[in-house]
Amino acid sequence: MTGRLVIIGAGQAGFALAAKLRALKDMRAITILGSEDVLPYQRPPLSKKYLLGEMSFDRLLFRPDNWFADNGVDIRLSNWVEEIDRKAGHVRTQDGVTHGYDTLAIATGSTPRRLPAALGGDLGGVYVVRDKRDADRLAEEMQPGRRLLIIGGGYIGLEAAAVARHLGLEVTLIEMADRILQRVAAKETSDAIRAIHQSLGVDIREKTGLKQLIGKDGRVVAAELADGTTLDVDLVIVGIGVTANDALAEAAGIKTGNGIVVDQFVRTSDPQVFAMGDCTQLPFKGQQVRLESVQNAVDQAEAAAAVMAGGNEPYEPKPWFWSDQYDVKLQIAGFNLGYDETLVRPGQREGAMSVWYFRADEMIAVDALNDAKAYVTGKKLLELGRSPDKSVLADPAADLKQFLA
Ligand SMILES: Cc1cc2nc3c(=O)[nH]c(=O)nc-3n(C[C@H](O)[C@H](O)[C@H](O)COP(=O)(O)OP(=O)(O)OC[C@H]3O[C@@H](n4cnc5c(N)ncnc54)[C@H](O)[C@@H]3O)c2cc1C
Repeated sequence: MTGRLVIIGAGQAGFALAAKLRALKDMRAITILGSEDVLPYQRPPLSKKYLLGEMSFDRLLFRPDNWFADNGVDIRLSNWVEEIDRKAGHVRTQDGVTHGYDTLAIATGSTPRRLPAALGGDLGGVYVVRDKRDADRLAEEMQPGRRLLIIGGGYIGLEAAAVARHLGLEVTLIEMADRILQRVAAKETSDAIRAIHQSLGVDIREKTGLKQLIGKDGRVVAAELADGTTLDVDLVIVGIGVTANDALAEAAGIKTGNGIVVDQFVRTSDPQVFAMGDCTQLPFKGQQVRLESVQNAVDQAEAAAAVMAGGNEPYEPKPWFWSDQYDVKLQIAGFNLGYDETLVRPGQREGAMSVWYFRADEMIAVDALNDAKAYVTGKKLLELGRSPDKSVLADPAADLKQFLA
């Protein structure tokens, strides 16, 4: 295939698209326009080993800079795309330069929700974790003995809590919902993760919202909670979810909902325009979902590359995810949307366990805590479209291998 491809966003999905096209020997002209000032890198370590100071930035890069020149990929950093003009067939960056395209790919990712300024969201010492700059600024503040408040008990908040405890900070985590991880995991997984954090000194307060942050000289010094308590704090991390970066597409008249709407061939409502990764809303088992994960960013981008290169394979997501907290590796296969039953199995190592999710007898997901065997088995079963017999699964002595026989 020939023609000019412009990719907006130099993140996980934008890079994966360019790399896959080259792997498919598709040598069309590719321009990647990215708003950050660094080459494409992995984000997950930003709330794990990179924040802890155990991983250098070089190790986060997908490829060194010569890869782009060697593969004829024109990557332009610090280039914010302001407008897509579909009639003219070009995009325009903030400095007024236009880039003509025959095919356009939008891979703009997502943006963390922030606290409104009226609640103190614009005070110094209040952070979100999305990019290298956020993580670098936060890492400087993570000094032993300081008091950190984390707002939101999702994966990023919990990972940051683990890093902060490791570095000797005092950590309080508040979660407005009944329990941490409520949006993404079953009660059993929440209970296990909560117990680990509590045993390592994190003060977790569920069903507790924030009333407001209090500042002094422009910097946060305290937090008033909805239950009337006031906490003295030195810094705050806000981990209350993300929204899809779909404004560019919407302004260009491309269909959006909870993200840019794409079909199973990764196309938007404009057949010349593809979208992939965190910025999309995509079909999954008859529903419209958002999948904010490395798996989706890479697989959806690679599926788009195959379509652009002339293929006709629909993208069927096979979700997986992970989270590292202390020495606990949580691995998730599948997507637990609409589950009506869970089954818990102890693992072989101390503290290891897995939570299996069922919807009307169909196994749809598994959370495995330090239990690689359960994860691998669950993932394989999902790929094969098989559900394990629940009574056998419930027996801790039963070998998981038999389900794959
Ligand atoms: C701290 C953290 C920890 C995570 N941990 C995990 C994990 O453990 N496991 C997991 O599976 N996933 C994890 N994720 C999620 C995963 O990193 C994302 O799902 C993935 O990066 C999505 O890829 P993307 O390409 O869609 O978006 P991104 O990687 O965010 O890339 C989008 C890029 O587009 C740029 N951009 C946006 N708008 C414009 C514009 N108008 N012009 C030019 N450029 C633009 C952005 O600046 C960004 O560089 C984590 C994310 C974060 C932030």
